[in-house]
Amino acid sequence: MIDKATRLKVALQKSGRLTDNSLDLLVRCGLKYSRGKDQLMCYGENMPLDVLFVRDDDIPDLVQQDVCDLGIVGLNVIEEKRIAFEARGISPLFEQVMTLDYGRCRLSIAVPEGTEYKDARSLRGKRIATTYPNILGRFLREKDIEAEIVTLSGAVEIAPRLGRADFICDLVSTGSTLVANHLWEADTILESQAAIIRTPIPVPNEKQEWIRRLSLRIDGVQQVKESKYIMLHAPRAQLAEIRKLLPGSEAPTIMPLEGSTDKVAVHAVCRENVFWETLESLKSAGASAILVLPVEKMMA
Ligand code: ATP
Ligand code: ZN
Repeated sequence: MIDKATRLKVALQKSGRLTDNSLDLLVRCGLKYSRGKDQLMCYGENMPLDVLFVRDDDIPDLVQQDVCDLGIVGLNVIEEKRIAFEARGISPLFEQVMTLDYGRCRLSIAVPEGTEYKDARSLRGKRIATTYPNILGRFLREKDIEAEIVTLSGAVEIAPRLGRADFICDLVSTGSTLVANHLWEADTILESQAAIIRTPIPVPNEKQEWIRRLSLRIDGVQQVKESKYIMLHAPRAQLAEIRKLLPGSEAPTIMPLEGSTDKVAVHAVCRENVFWETLESLKSAGASAILVLPVEKMMA
């Protein structure tokens, strides 16, 4: 039996686009785990945190009902459920803790090739197939447009060909599924990425402290991804120019070089990736002995 009072329970997608990135994120935050025999749970060995694997659509409900303390799911699912809960007068609602840097996609209106679409008014009187009736409904209400929403549970992209709808409203990332189905992306109604949500109910102090620590670690993991530690030697006279070339760096450390009066060592954390072009520009500006290292952990 898992100790509900002290161990955090986190819901992740069981098998899908968010699964690998979400588990990888927790591992980067320091989690070591063992898998349950049924593969439905992972048990944290070095952190009081256990993972429950479920369908992504169930995650907001599990967090809302306080079965799980935290959940990782796309903003598209979060918004869809939030509107549905609000419409049923349910409060307080699960809260969004932070967005994550993966799972990016958009909920878009797509229309068959050869069909015109100017703006949202082109939806007037049309049938639109979607698995997101709440988000689409809100969009139509906000634009004051009357249209028929055809709610499907999947395979939305074939609805126009089957004559079930005129347009669709579906998730798009590369757009290749749309092209394969002779549709074009006409309008975006929601930009999405993965996010963490938490239970609406206050949690015991011990768990709250772990939510705080986990959030800080996730922040660190996300910052570190693109960050590099850069070291170089620079002529003092060129310092101003060289600092301008360091991408996304704040206040580099500048140190004297033993036995040299005109050269200094510069160390800086760059928050953006450092490309070969940057190294070439640094060299042209007079830098030498340039080293770029990956940053493994970071805490502000
Ligand atoms: P489940 O079996 O868990 O219900 P699913 O089929 O609903 O899975 P996936 O296709 O794995 O879900 O997508 C999960 C989430 O990944 C989406 O809700 C969305 O937030 C994000 N995502 C990113 N890119 C895309 C995309 N091109 N199409 C669909 N979802 C995407
Ligand atoms: Zn789903």
